[in-house]
Amino acid sequence: MGESFKRTMDVVDGILRPMAQVWKQSPMPPYEDYGHLFTELIDTNAEHFGDIAGAMANKDRRVALFEFGLVPQLFFAFDCAPLCLEFYPSFFTRTNMSVVYEFLDAAEEAGVPTDVCSTDRFILGAALSGELPHNSFFVTSSAPCDGTRIAYPILHRILDCPILFLDAPFRYDREAVQYYAKQLRDDLIPFLEKNTGKKFDLDRFRQVVTESNTAYEYLVDTHDAYTVMPAPHPGILRMFPFSSFIMDAGHARLTKTLRILSEDAGRRVKEGRTQGPFKEKHRVLWVHVPPTYDMDLFAWMEEQFGAMVVSNSLSSTTILEPVDTTSLDSMLEGVAWQGLDMTMSLMRFETEKLINFSLDAYARYNCDCMFVTQHVGCKSICGASGMLAKICRKKDIPVLFIEFDYNDDRVLPPQLMRNQIEEFFTTVMD
Ligand code: SF4
Repeated sequence: MGESFKRTMDVVDGILRPMAQVWKQSPMPPYEDYGHLFTELIDTNAEHFGDIAGAMANKDRRVALFEFGLVPQLFFAFDCAPLCLEFYPSFFTRTNMSVVYEFLDAAEEAGVPTDVCSTDRFILGAALSGELPHNSFFVTSSAPCDGTRIAYPILHRILDCPILFLDAPFRYDREAVQYYAKQLRDDLIPFLEKNTGKKFDLDRFRQVVTESNTAYEYLVDTHDAYTVMPAPHPGILRMFPFSSFIMDAGHARLTKTLRILSEDAGRRVKEGRTQGPFKEKHRVLWVHVPPTYDMDLFAWMEEQFGAMVVSNSLSSTTILEPVDTTSLDSMLEGVAWQGLDMTMSLMRFETEKLINFSLDAYARYNCDCMFVTQHVGCKSICGASGMLAKICRKKDIPVLFIEFDYNDDRVLPPQLMRNQIEEFFTTVMD
């Protein structure tokens, strides 16, 4: 067992903070013009993890470990430091792959099959290796997939902390969301009161939700700006606004970062200077999750083929709605919608909806081709490939299916992935 959260803080102090300084003082070519945005995003990310380390050492606070199917506003209302476990692997895939291998190996040695989604294997391995923060509790739901439904009961046995399971509805309508919101009111709030020692404060919750609504407006404005051709920010930057929202919605540091991004994107559009260092020729909708370990992939695609990944269909905000702050019930309903509709939670409903959602994003962002991740271990997206291929053929959409593991570069090494992408652009798109 390692020291709790040590590998994480080693990355924060040894990589993130120095990297933010590098972007601030001498931004890296060819993205010098975006240096202040990289600095802001990296700093906010470092602050997010630093806050979790701070809460671990503070007897008046708790770390809220949570999973897809939830958003963090209620945790912030109780002054907790939230950590969304599904985003945790990508923190390491971007910074230190040896930790990723270590945690995946730990899960496999404990008997977790290799065909379970690597996100879940990573989380289990992190728990087995003692990396997950202490002074914490864990809240999860039955969304979004088989992988998580296998992993959470195992986590239940490994984790030595209070745990709450919520039942995510399968249906997609208001009644289903009210069913989920009722659990937030009847189960989650009392659970938080018990485990933080604090009484629920409606005004504080409204304040947090209002803050998250402000951040949401900036997020929508930023994504709207990305519909402009050429898109105002490089692909690697465009990945972060939505994931930052899921991690920090309701915290002022997120609102500030999204405001800076949104204002910068808006200014570039207004001044007609959205062109980046490489001429935009193609727009790619990346359905599901692109590789999280290859930080240079988007820049390479932009430089080699003028191909911009303008959206991936699991990180678009269009499906989320702001939260109505009129009453406790309206706020809980809004937070329930956001939780159920956020990123991977899209996978919980039928493939037809996922396809329609992807086609809408394809049209909205003026894409001319589609990449579809075939993430080994994800039955939802791999199972959808036949239907996706059929609909793309029918609509004459050029599509590349790539079989890989978005967390583990040993399954399809970056160079082999690039070979496939190069072949696609030089044959199908040429
Ligand atoms: S990638 Fe698929 S299997 Fe993995 S967490 Fe997402 S929906 Fe579940």
